[in-house]
Amino acid sequence: MSSSVDAFLQHVVTRNPGEPEFHQAVREVAESIMPVVDGIPAYRQEKILERLVEPERSISFRVPWIDDRNEIHVNRGYRIEMNSALGPYKGGLRFHASVNPSILKFLAFEQVFKNSLTTLPMGGGKGGSDFDPRGKSDMEVMRFCQSFMSELFRHIGPNTDVPAGDIGVGAREIGYLFGQYKRLRNEFTGVLTGKGLGWGGSLIRPEATGYGAVYFAQQMLATRSETVEGKIVTLSGSGNVAQYAVEKLIQLGAKVITLSDSDGTIVDTDGIDAEKLAVLMELKNVKRRRIHEYTEKIPKAQYLPKQRPWQVPCQLAFPCATQNEITAEEALTLVRNGCLCVCEGANMPTEPEGVEVFLKAKILYGPGKAANAGGVATSGLEMSQNAMHLSWPRDEVDTRLREIMRAIHESCVQYGRESDFINYVKGANIAGFKKVAGAMLEQGLV
Ligand code: NDP
Repeated sequence: MSSSVDAFLQHVVTRNPGEPEFHQAVREVAESIMPVVDGIPAYRQEKILERLVEPERSISFRVPWIDDRNEIHVNRGYRIEMNSALGPYKGGLRFHASVNPSILKFLAFEQVFKNSLTTLPMGGGKGGSDFDPRGKSDMEVMRFCQSFMSELFRHIGPNTDVPAGDIGVGAREIGYLFGQYKRLRNEFTGVLTGKGLGWGGSLIRPEATGYGAVYFAQQMLATRSETVEGKIVTLSGSGNVAQYAVEKLIQLGAKVITLSDSDGTIVDTDGIDAEKLAVLMELKNVKRRRIHEYTEKIPKAQYLPKQRPWQVPCQLAFPCATQNEITAEEALTLVRNGCLCVCEGANMPTEPEGVEVFLKAKILYGPGKAANAGGVATSGLEMSQNAMHLSWPRDEVDTRLREIMRAIHESCVQYGRESDFINYVKGANIAGFKKVAGAMLEQGLV
């Protein structure tokens, strides 16, 4: 680590004690961009880095709600409005027991660069709660969402801050959140993305993160004259991003052989086809069950309790569950087993030492802030459609999504090309940073 990165990280750690995920995300970006910062005096004079790591606004609030047995619970809600240099704050809401300020600040920080990469006018933010929707009834989830929005509505709006879904926040939760916002504000606006198709949602938005990650992998593979077709794929998670990554991979002729949740992994060596994917979607999205039940429907599949998919040999790997789900050892296993491309559907799923393994091995490694930007990009397209009061056909949104992923790939190549390989981490960080930093300079000290 260079001495200026070291000094800057010390500053961040001192000001934000006990926030390891946030430190991790800042370190990764700082290592890539410090040479650029050192080369342009205005970035230093105007304290661009110091301003980038300080949220413009952090909101924390009480979320009381009543369960089906009339018992009262108190959760904590948050919204981190990180940076609005490029547009209204934009980023998902996460409902998961692990949610805390460190995780949300890492996600909000990443979101600033990701949104910049899409070239759409969106700043970065993130929010959520330590509420866990798993095992709750629809009515309990609705009461929680209504209580959460009863505070959040003061801070968001279609030109201010436009939240979306993330872990634990899907179509059902967005519906309840939107309903409460509309009731409190007495206005029907595009204040959330990921809305239902009948009331302002965009075609392809549910699919966008998963599809976009596969489009990004196609671009990376093409640099080595490779394609997705015929490749063996391991993939983690079984939620929104995982499901639609699998759908696109199947359409392109890949063989996906794993899925997971926080309890374990299923391995289906015959490959998950469209019919099995429909079984999975019913299991997860309608019945809201655990991944091990896949093996009850598909008896030839194997369940590995408490394990992640990375020891299963593959050519392509798509981590689509959560942060820090690939350790250095698992990264080494992937490389040794002949994996040629790791494409991150999730945010920061690879630990820093694992990233080093991928970069050293010079495999194709697409970091989340570039590879999973298709979700927020399509949210941006949903905002455009809402503002124009119209709805684009499926093909049009999909074509725009493909084009955005192609352009993000091109930016990564432009800034990440090294003598004998493309460093997508460096490319994504520098490309994302330059646009935000330029806008911050032009907007003065705010
Ligand atoms: P979902 O809630 O739909 O699915 C999350 C999946 O990840 C579930 O299978 C869940 O299993 C698993 N998971 C969650 N936490 C853990 C954990 N600690 N260990 C192992 N598995 C875990 O979320 P999404 O699919 O929307 O999000 C997945 C990832 O993609 C996240 O990193 C998110 O930030 C990122 N992302 C999502 C976007 C979107 O548009 N939705 C956009 C860009 C990035 P379990 O049920 O056991 O918790």
